[in-house]
Amino acid sequence: MTDKPATEQELIVGIDLGTTNSLVAYCDEKGPRILPDDQGRAVLPSVVRLNESDGSAEAIGHEARATAIEFPERTIHSVKRLMGRGMQDVKNELSQLPYRVVEGEQNTARVAVGGHVISPQAISAMILMELKQRAEAALGKPVRKAVVTVPAYFDDAQRQATRDAGRIAGLEVVRMVNEPTAAALAYGLGGAHPHKNDSLVKEKSAGGISLSTKLNPEVCAEDAKPQAAVPNTQDPTPNTQSQTIAVYDLGGGTFDISILRLEQTENGAVDQVLSTAGDTHLGGDDVDQMIIQLVMREVREQFGEKLQFPPATQQALRKFAEATKIKLSNETSADIEIDLGDGKLYKRTLTRDELEALAKPWVDRTMDACKQALRGAKLTIEEIDRIVLVGGSTRIPMVVEAVGDFFEAEPYTALDPDQVVALGASVQAARLAGTRQGGLLLDVIPLSLGIETMGGAVAKLITANSTIPARASEIFSTYAEGQTKIAINVYQGERELVADCRLLGSFELTGIPPMPAGLPKLNVTFVVDANGVLTVTATEERSGRRARTQVVPNHGLTRDEVQQIERDSFAHAKADMDAHRLIDLRLNAKLDIRNINKQLDRVGKGIEPGYHDEIEAHIATVQGMIDSPDDQVDADVFQQAMHDMDHATIRLAEVAIAQTLKGDLKQ
Ligand code: ADP
Ligand code: MG
Repeated sequence: MTDKPATEQELIVGIDLGTTNSLVAYCDEKGPRILPDDQGRAVLPSVVRLNESDGSAEAIGHEARATAIEFPERTIHSVKRLMGRGMQDVKNELSQLPYRVVEGEQNTARVAVGGHVISPQAISAMILMELKQRAEAALGKPVRKAVVTVPAYFDDAQRQATRDAGRIAGLEVVRMVNEPTAAALAYGLGGAHPHKNDSLVKEKSAGGISLSTKLNPEVCAEDAKPQAAVPNTQDPTPNTQSQTIAVYDLGGGTFDISILRLEQTENGAVDQVLSTAGDTHLGGDDVDQMIIQLVMREVREQFGEKLQFPPATQQALRKFAEATKIKLSNETSADIEIDLGDGKLYKRTLTRDELEALAKPWVDRTMDACKQALRGAKLTIEEIDRIVLVGGSTRIPMVVEAVGDFFEAEPYTALDPDQVVALGASVQAARLAGTRQGGLLLDVIPLSLGIETMGGAVAKLITANSTIPARASEIFSTYAEGQTKIAINVYQGERELVADCRLLGSFELTGIPPMPAGLPKLNVTFVVDANGVLTVTATEERSGRRARTQVVPNHGLTRDEVQQIERDSFAHAKADMDAHRLIDLRLNAKLDIRNINKQLDRVGKGIEPGYHDEIEAHIATVQGMIDSPDDQVDADVFQQAMHDMDHATIRLAEVAIAQTLKGDLKQ
């Protein structure tokens, strides 16, 4: 038989088959990535609308969810709750499921629609089939194998049912991975598989150019190892021991906290689930309900107790409540406006504080489960190495804060919490397929890390080849008067200008009290931990305002790309340096002119007209250079013009100071 060449790589995808949402991911040499649908959507709602006459799928995903309230008895959501369960097990679920659940063979729970009885496996298979097709369209190849994730507490029957669902969908489930384990794998936790130090690192040790604009560098490797890129002569063995990880997963309808011990081996991860706790009926949906209840109560107060909410309104209200909740994860208030017809308009503003007050008991319940999980694992908080956040509801700032406070550490948030389980499944899949590990696992930082400064230059805080873990911090200030927020853009690369580097992430530090330019003291700290996760924290020290972001710098980068970036930086070193110098010259020139104009205002007629004109002429020359395009201004000439202007204004400065002193004495 000549079916397929032995060299053909096995294509194995990773699938997160969720209660609320499902996703498919693939991991190649660039690391793991989500395969979106043809409209670019990453998430597939785990919802299927069945046809009453033949029991087939009429709509899957977004469309099925959109019409859920219209067709409650045949729109199947949360089928994961029924997978591999007996009628006895799901008794308590039934009141919450709008569709009919009946008893099938051997007491199994089945879904009944019209005259048809359908197994939960068959419905899950419809979702898997959709993901399979999506993957095939994205990868341009048939997909027959998958790693599928299941909750850590799934028993054998539930796991078997998941495997069967795959088979029905035409997918061989080559491995089932616990969801928390997958999340940890996406972050490369559990100890990196030791790499041979290859040419990449050695080549870099030839030394690089450093054009950093640092004012106050304060770089040190956390473990006090020398920073320089000395290639290790023996195998580097970064964190090969196991790690103890808490995975906090707050989704739409379920909450799980798992404590696990994870170790990575040649063939993938070996995990030991030390304990799990949680609540199978606690999730983001509850917060939506809180908003719905609040709105319905207020609408009735305002327009009469008897006001009815027909299904279409309820459907709209549900969508709308979720949108409001999500808005409040990013903003501090959201306007609500509902037109109830007949000139009835309900309007109010919901603040984040109000929502947090409503949701506080809800968050507290998850914390109780965390305590229980720790007790179950017989561990103390100090024994937990990392905390990983999973599930869309962990985007709620209050949740991140509560988890951080409880575990007394910054939880991992670098990866999209909706996607992290699927990404981790694909990492495991790649390992089983024998393809790349996914992501660059190194004991040094392959490319420099920094932030954008005024004029589009990059200030590098951590330079290429720093040993992991590494930390650096630097003080910056503002350029504009009364600036109340500062955008921090985090870049990776060896070039001098942001346009030639790779944007890793952005965040804003807001709420800074207005101060004169140059006065705010912005401390920016970069920490790359042993797992290669970068946390950037910005603190305005005078006001104590603080914000942060977290990214995995090596995701989406291949070794070849790293080397190409390196070569580019050498090739452009001179041009880059000039460009960077021009940016700095322009900035300083603008500040100088601003200063001179202030002094001119102050001295008024205190200097003779001829001297005044002379200064104006210098300003005009320098201003001309500020305004010229890069290719029409020579940095040396520019610098000379500034120097001349400075020199010519020495006397002006003296007069201005004298006048100020006089003024002060008069007062
Ligand atoms: P599941 O694991 O149950 O399939 P997900 O992890 O996909 O669920 O989480 C879905 C939940 O996350 C929903 O309740 C959704 O409203 C919520 N969610 C998504 N994004 C945000 C956000 N930015 N802020 C708050 N909640 C969010
Ligand atoms: Mg989930």
